[in-house]
Amino acid sequence: MLNSGVLVLNRSWVAVNVATARRALVLLCQGHARVVHPRNFGLYGFEEWVQFSEEQLRGTPNGHRYIHSPNLTVLLPEVILLGVFNGFIRKEVHFSRRNLFLRDGHQCQYCGKRPPRHELSIDHVIPRSRGGKDTWENLVVACQKCNVKKGDRTPEEANMRLLRNPAAPRWLPRFGMVLEREQLAGWQRFLEGPRSHQASA
Ligand SMILES: [Zn+2]
Repeated sequence: MLNSGVLVLNRSWVAVNVATARRALVLLCQGHARVVHPRNFGLYGFEEWVQFSEEQLRGTPNGHRYIHSPNLTVLLPEVILLGVFNGFIRKEVHFSRRNLFLRDGHQCQYCGKRPPRHELSIDHVIPRSRGGKDTWENLVVACQKCNVKKGDRTPEEANMRLLRNPAAPRWLPRFGMVLEREQLAGWQRFLEGPRSHQASA
C-alpha cells in the first residue's frame, strides 16, 4: 500500500510527478509538502493531516486507504502539493468578508442556523462601540435575528454562546467553497490543468 501512487503538484498546482505513498508521507512529515483535500482543496500539514485522518477513521474506517502503526494512523494522501513550508508558519488567509463566510460555513455562530446568504450578517463579538476590532478573532457570521438580539453587548452579557471560538482559518480557501459536485474521480481534476478547477469554484 505504501507503494501506491500519489499525484504530486508543484506550487502552481500543476501535476509534475507521481510519487509512492511512502515518499509522499516522508515529504509531508518533513514539511516539504502538504496534502490536498481532493474535494475542497484544503491544505494539510503533517499534524493537521494526522488529526484529519483520525477524525475520518473514527467514523467509518471502511473504504479508506490508511496505514496503521502503534503510534500513528494516517490516511494515504491522493494528492500532495510541493513547496517549502515550515510546519510552524502557516500562510495567512487573506482577511475578507468572503473568507469569513467560508470560515464559518455560512452558519450563524450563535444559533447554528444556515439561512440564505442575504439573511446573514457579520457580528462584532466585542462590539465596535467598545473598541472591538475587525479581526478574525472578533468577527463572526450571525443571522440577522441573532445580530439584532445581541445588539451592543458581548456574548456573555447577551447570554449567547458562540458555537466556536473565532480564529484565523488554518486552511487556504484557494478555490472557494467545498465543491458540491460529484466526487472527484481521483486525480482527474488536477490533470485537467490548473485552470479548470478554478473555473468551477
Ligand atoms: Zn442566529
